[in-house]
Amino acid sequence: MKIKRIETFTTRQLSVVRVTSEDGLQGYGQIAPYHANISALVLHQQVAPHALGADANDIEALVEKVVREEHKFPGSYICRAVGGLDTALWDLKGKRLGKSVSELLGGTPGKVKIYGSSMKRNISPAAEAERIQRLMETQGIEAFKIRIANNFANDVDVYPGRSEEVVRAVRKAIGNRAELFVDANSGLTPAKAIETGKMLAEYGVCHFEEPCPYMELEWTKQVADALDIPVTGGEQDTDLAQFRRMILMRAVDIVQPDICYVGGISRALEVAKMAEAVGMPCMPHAANLSMLTVFTMHMVSAIPNPGKYMEFTIEDDAWTNGLFTEPLKVEDGQVQVPQGPGWGITVNPEWLEKAEYQISE
Ligand SMILES: [Mg+2]
Repeated sequence: MKIKRIETFTTRQLSVVRVTSEDGLQGYGQIAPYHANISALVLHQQVAPHALGADANDIEALVEKVVREEHKFPGSYICRAVGGLDTALWDLKGKRLGKSVSELLGGTPGKVKIYGSSMKRNISPAAEAERIQRLMETQGIEAFKIRIANNFANDVDVYPGRSEEVVRAVRKAIGNRAELFVDANSGLTPAKAIETGKMLAEYGVCHFEEPCPYMELEWTKQVADALDIPVTGGEQDTDLAQFRRMILMRAVDIVQPDICYVGGISRALEVAKMAEAVGMPCMPHAANLSMLTVFTMHMVSAIPNPGKYMEFTIEDDAWTNGLFTEPLKVEDGQVQVPQGPGWGITVNPEWLEKAEYQISE
C-alpha cells in the first residue's frame, strides 16, 4: 500500500504528522519537540520526496533509505523529521492490522513501571525532596531521577555544593523506599565525574546519567570503568554507528536512545538490538508528555531489555497539555500502555485546528 499524502500540524514546540495511504487509511506520528517548525520543513522538503509513493508497510527500509539518500545532511534535523514519518507509519500499520504498535513489535500492551524524572535544577534541594517524597507516597513511584552538576558546565555546579546537597536531601526524604538516579547532563570532566560518582555511591544512587559531554565517548568510558554505579547515556545521539561504538566499547552500561531524536521506532529498535546482543539494557529517553512518551511505552513493553523503569517526567509542561484525548495516568508507580490499534490514542482535533498546516502529496 503506497504513501499518498504527508501532512503536518505544527507549532514552534511540536509537530504532529499525519500520513495517508492510497486506501485512505491514516496514521498519526510526531516530530521531536523543540524547533519542530524547522524539522517539519525538513520533512516536507527532504523526506517527503523519498516517501511519497513508497510502500507504507516497509517502514524500516524507507527510513534507512531517507537517511542514506540525505547523507550530506546527517544528524539531528533529518532524524527528527524522519522520526515523524516513521511514527505515523507505525500507527498506520497498526490500524491496518488491528494491532497496537506494542503487539506489532512482539509485545503486550500491559502496565509499565515508571521512574519519576525531574527536569529542574532551579529548584532548592528542600523543595525537590518535598515533591519527590509526595509523589512517592501519592503515586507509588518506586524510582526517581534528579539533576546534579550543570548542563555542559565543565565541573561548575549551579552553586558550590548543590549536587551533594540535593542528593542528600532527596535520599533523606525517600529513605530506602525508592531508587535514586541522577543526571549530570554532560556537566563533568572525567576526574570530577569519578569523584562525583564515588559520592553518589555513598547515597545509594544506582544510575549516573551523561556524566561527561556526550560526544566524548572515551571520557564517559573512563567514568564507567572506574565506577560500580551504572553509567548511562545516548539521548543526544542520532548516528547508529556512534551507538554501535558506544555500546561495543562499553562507554555506557545502559543505553538511552530517544525515539524522536534518533529517527523513530525503527532506528530506536536497532539501538535496542545492538544493546541486547551484548546483554545491555536499553532504557529510552522520554523527557516530556508529548506523543514521545506513548511511543516509548509501546517500545519498552515489547523489547526484551528495557531496564526496570521507563522515564516519565514529573513536570507539568503546558505545551503538551491537551495534545491527545487520553491523558496518561500514573497509578501504583505504573502507566497503562494504550491498547487500541496503532498508538491507541487520539490526537485532539482542537489541537490540530490551532496548529500551522502543511501538506505534501
Ligand atoms: Mg538525560
